[in-house]
Amino acid sequence: MIMNEPTITYKTGMSRKDFLTLTGRSVAAVAVAGIATACGASGSTSIQSGLKAVSPPAKIPSSPIEPIVLEEWKSKNDVESAPTPTPMPYKDRIGYAIVGLGHLSLEELLPALNTCKKSRLAALVSGSPEKLKKVAEQYGVKPENCYSYETYYQIKNNPEVDVIYIVLPNGLHKEYVIRGAKAGKHILCEKPMANTAAECREMIAACNTANVKLMVAYRIQYQPHNRKIRDILQQKALGTTKFIQATNGQASANPDHWRHKKALAGGGALPDIGLYCINTNRFILGSEPVEVFAYQYSTPGDPLFTEIEEMVSWQMKFPDGIIANCVTHYDIHDNKDYGVFCEKGWLKLDNAYSYTGQQLKKSHAEGKEKIQENIVIAETDQFAIEMDHFSDCIINDKRPFTTGEEGLQDHIIMEAIYESARTGKPVKIPANADTELFHGPEPELG
Ligand code: NAD
Repeated sequence: MIMNEPTITYKTGMSRKDFLTLTGRSVAAVAVAGIATACGASGSTSIQSGLKAVSPPAKIPSSPIEPIVLEEWKSKNDVESAPTPTPMPYKDRIGYAIVGLGHLSLEELLPALNTCKKSRLAALVSGSPEKLKKVAEQYGVKPENCYSYETYYQIKNNPEVDVIYIVLPNGLHKEYVIRGAKAGKHILCEKPMANTAAECREMIAACNTANVKLMVAYRIQYQPHNRKIRDILQQKALGTTKFIQATNGQASANPDHWRHKKALAGGGALPDIGLYCINTNRFILGSEPVEVFAYQYSTPGDPLFTEIEEMVSWQMKFPDGIIANCVTHYDIHDNKDYGVFCEKGWLKLDNAYSYTGQQLKKSHAEGKEKIQENIVIAETDQFAIEMDHFSDCIINDKRPFTTGEEGLQDHIIMEAIYESARTGKPVKIPANADTELFHGPEPELG
């Protein structure tokens, strides 16, 4: 009954919102309870510390996908509450084994799993027993669900693990994906998928043979600002796309880190962060580059760049003459943005490839006016929605949106970029007959 009285006015003549602000919620609850009782409301009540509390009325649907509807209390002048989340019961969620407890796992993935709705942490794999024990305690993972790289294969006997998520240096992805597939588990693999296109092909074949799903963790394809740009471009809301300018750069400092060792990283800035420019351009345009032209540079004598490159600058030619001009760098202050320039306007996305902080600007002309606007979109936890998408694919037996074939295509393009930089000539990208395999159905991002 209280829920249906949003315009209720109290004796003082104050609005309900002002009343709550002035008196505090608990006093208000007593007053509201009194009014409710006087009106003959039948909500359940209890007495604690001398205060009479009212259980807020709530509609509790039996369907797991219908949200619980709570009592209304906000004015219509304020933003409406979002529906309550509808997470799956914890025991029914897809169980993840996280392999490699480095920066990405500890700083992003494990915290993100706590916010997932269809995914849960089931197991951990690490080479460090001390780290394994500490992280297991922090996240409530049972000792029997903690594995070393030597005992990794025993995950096959663990029914609590549905997915193995490979978060190791790039050069180890192939081995651990193939072993994971042979253990009969679905595989989520960090980007870049591997060190080479040949390795990607082996990984895809192994997952097909084992009949397990393989997804590459291209979080940008699930990120709302980047998806919005894709929609605007593909609907041609700003006319034909003409040109893209993309940068992904950051500063490295440790020459001993695996990212600076060719065997473990596969390359330098290009496979680590330049890859975002390649993959996101393909995603937002919905087409494949037909040719690349590249230039590569490393500062002579810099110990950071004895094995891997510091900088790659390249152009990708897409069908219809669209040019994407891209730069990736391992020795500049962090910069991750791109602009898309169309016939009738442009879109610019700051922090485009970052974990948070995307800022989307749009410009177009209206008569004598140049209209520039900020398109504000709520941020999401990119890692949580990505893992929940993969879980959804397993629950509903769907092909992941970002497949192994999608990861392979980026490696084919990167190999062409390196070849162009080496030879100083443009390199054609052979037409790929498997483009329909690059993506599964559109993800339902809740
Ligand atoms: P990291 O160095 O912080 O962690 C790597 C982990 O692998 C460490 O725990 C390390 O101990 C372990 N490891 C096991 N064998 C190793 C070996 N032989 N040499 C070195 N380390 C070894 O790296 P990270 O930043 O967490 O990156 C891991 C993977 O995740 C990479 O493939 C990277 O490209 C990817 N990544 C993706 C994103 C994203 O946004 N999707 C962001 C960062 C990293």
